[in-house]
Formats: sequence, C-alpha cells, structure tokens
Amino acid sequence: MQCPCGCGETIELMIMEGVYPRWDIQTDTRNRPTLYPSVWLKSGCRSHFWLRKGRVVWCKPENCV
Ligand SMILES: [Zn+2]
Repeated sequence: MQCPCGCGETIELMIMEGVYPRWDIQTDTRNRPTLYPSVWLKSGCRSHFWLRKGRVVWCKPENCV
C-alpha cells in the first residue's frame, strides 16, 4: 500500500504467518480491512496510523498509546 500521507512511500505489510514484524488483518462483513497493530514508519515521514474498517485513522499523541 502507499503511505496515506502522500509522501509516495510504499509500505510493505507482512501479514504472513511466522514473519515478524507482522500485522493481523481482519475484514468485516463489508470487506473493509482492519489492521492490528498500528502502522508506524520508523523512517521517512514517520507516519503513524491505524487502518480501521478500510479507513486511515491518524495517530495523535492524545489518542495513541
Ligand atoms: Zn508518508
């Protein structure tokens, strides 16, 4: 997927079993993906966000632990 901030970075999410770090992906009844845990780019734009029900939810200090 492309970084949602618009910087053009490609984020590779590894959701295969046995690979670390990895993310769990769940899709709801309308096929909208939810990722756990949050995605945090350690380099580049350092975006930190959640993907919940197909929507990007930006992590802000007050709602993000
Ligand atoms: Zn970015």
